[in-house]
Formats: sequence, C-alpha cells, structure tokens
Amino acid sequence: MLPKTMKAAVAHRFGEPLRIEQVPVPTPARGEVLVKIVCTGVCHTDVHAVDGDWPVKPQPPFIPGHEGVGVVAALGEGVDNLKLGDPVGIAWLHDACGHCEYCITGWETLCETQHDSGYSVNGSFAEYAIGNAAYVARLPHDVDFAAMAPILCAGVTTYKGIRETEARPGEWLVVSGIGGLGHLAVQYGTAMGLRVVAVDVAEEKLALARQLGAAATVDARQPNAVEQVLDATGGGAHGVLVTAVSPPAFSQALRFTRRRGTMSLVGLPPGDFATPIFDVVLKRLTIRGSIVGTRKDLAEAVDFAAAGKVVATIERRQLEDVNSVLDGLRQGHIQGRVVLDIASA
Ligand code: NAD
Ligand code: ZN
Ligand code: ZN
Repeated sequence: MLPKTMKAAVAHRFGEPLRIEQVPVPTPARGEVLVKIVCTGVCHTDVHAVDGDWPVKPQPPFIPGHEGVGVVAALGEGVDNLKLGDPVGIAWLHDACGHCEYCITGWETLCETQHDSGYSVNGSFAEYAIGNAAYVARLPHDVDFAAMAPILCAGVTTYKGIRETEARPGEWLVVSGIGGLGHLAVQYGTAMGLRVVAVDVAEEKLALARQLGAAATVDARQPNAVEQVLDATGGGAHGVLVTAVSPPAFSQALRFTRRRGTMSLVGLPPGDFATPIFDVVLKRLTIRGSIVGTRKDLAEAVDFAAAGKVVATIERRQLEDVNSVLDGLRQGHIQGRVVLDIASA
C-alpha cells in the first residue's frame, strides 16, 4: 500500500530556504511511473532554481531535484516497458514531445516543449517523484543507488559536454570548475583516453582532481594561470569544458583553447562573457553550448559508472540538511557531490 502523503523539500519563494513538508503522494498518469526515491544528488542547478536566478524561472511552489534514483513503486496506465521494483533514475529531462525536428533526430534535449525535473515538474527532493516511463533512466539491478545519483545529471552532462569538444584520445582536455560536474569530468575524460588539466579556484578541489587522474592542475586565480595551462598542454587544449559558476571563468577558458579547438560551455552562471572576435577567427575556435544529454548519452554515462570507470566522490546527508547543502554550493564549499538519503531500497 502506498502512503497518502510524503515528505518533500518545497520551494515557496525564490531565495528562501526550502520547507520540509508533508504533501500528497502524486498519482502516475498514463505513460508515467511513480518512483520511490532512495536518494538524490544536489546539483548547482537546484541553487539556480531555488534562487530564481535564470531568465526562465520555475513556478513556485515546486520540489527541486533531478539526480533522483529509486525504484518503480506504481505504474500508470499503458506502461509496459517497466515493472514494479525496477531501479530507475529521475534525470533533468522529464519528457519531450517525441515528434518535433529535435526529438526525431535524437536531440530530445533541445525539444521546445520539454518538461524538466525539479524545474517545470516536481523533482526528487521527496519520498516519491513522477517519471515518464519513456524517459526515466534505466539502471542496473545491482546498482549502488548513492554512487549512481550524481551520474543522472553531473555525469551525463560532462560525458556529453566532453564529447561535444570532439577531443580525441591522447589529446588535451581542460576542465574548468572541479565541483560536482567537474570532478566527474576529470574521470570521464581520463576514461575516454584524454589527458586532463583541471582548473579551479580552491586548492582542495585541485587536490581531488589530482587524486582522480588529472595530469596537471592550475589555480585559476594565479595571474599566469593561462600561461600555466598553455605550458602544460603544449599550446592549449583541444577541448575545454567549462562547468564553473562564474562568467570570468568563461573568458579565461577561451584562452586555454588550442588553435582549431572547441570550448564546450555547460556551467550556467547568469550573465555574459567577452568573446574577442580576433582570437576566435584567427585561431578558428569553436564555442559550443551543451545541455545535459539524451537518453542514449545517459545510458552510456551510466555504463561507465556501472563498470567502475567513473566513481562519484560523495558525501551523504539527510533531506532535512538540504538548505545547508544549497548554501555550501553557493559558497563553493562542496567537495564532489552531496547525496541526500531518503529511504532504503
Ligand atoms: P558546483 O558548485 O559543485 O561546482 C562549481 C565549481 O566551480 C566549484 O568547484 C567552484 O570552486 C568552481 N569555480 C568557481 N569559480 C571558478 C572560476 N573562476 N574558475 C574555475 N572554477 C571556478 O556546481 P555543479 O553542480 O558542478 O554545477 C556547475 C554549473 O553547471 C552550474 O551553473 C549548473 O547549473 C550547471 N549545470 C549545467 C548543466 C547543463 O546541462 N549545461 C547541467 C548541470 C549543471
Ligand atoms: Zn543538474
Ligand atoms: Zn520535441
């Protein structure tokens, strides 16, 4: 028997702490499943959602969270691809239309009528969440739920973002920003045969990057940070992935990029960065945005983690701690990813 109500962390007004409340357990509609959440990662995007600092804002009240892992607890009508008890993940892309230009070309992440977990539909900071049966992540039956949670967003986003740089095995990748996303990017890059330089503004993040396989690390605050990266890579990186939550990091990262190289933007601080036209033209640089990953990208990112090639550094906390975790992200104090324990599997 499912309970009638559940505990959830609810955003009522932008910039205010989430409130831990009892709310009704949602009922899955046709094509949907109810997921019993075992644990959930906390992404910096949840900070942007709670603070309402992006141009397109969620509508309070809402439940944030899009790195939820759990098991199928109820099936909506017509769901025949999942069974009760199947381990699944609630990722950012809740659903998409399935028939637009982007959906039919394997770019469902660009669908203009998509819904996003923890933003335009309620997310995983709760005991239960609704997933769309065609879009939830399929996880291995012996999954380590806490270790897998960060893969649902941080993992797939960096895996895809690195692929979007088109850097090839043996070439150089710079990862700017070694937080939840970046510490996984160091590992995906290494597992994909790239040589990785990690850049951040905090010594403990750089130490973590070295531990996870970075060939070199550079403190972005050093006045000669760009020269250090150019030295380490023999003239700039073929691929540059920017996860930093800071517009100046984007201007700096452009200068890390090798001639003919590609800079892939995934960090989403509100704001702009200066783009020197002369450099972009003469060095034939590519500046490319990258947004999470498709269901196929997600399956591939999950495979790397299931095979032990990428292991999230996690700190486990309780749902009641969510506001202090969000503060930790605002202040840049979180190492790796915090995963909130919600229930046993
Ligand atoms: P995080 O807070 O865990 O990590 C951010 C890191 O950036 C920290 O380690 C911080 O020290 C570092 N940093 C800050 N200023 C820097 C600078 N000037 N140079 C280098 N590093 C700097 O955040 P996260 O969860 O990894 O998310 C990062 C960003 O990515 C957020 O803006 C988030 O919204 C965005 N995001 C985008 C996508 C996407 O699909 N494009 C997906 C998930 C998250
Ligand atoms: Zn995220
Ligand atoms: Zn579509």
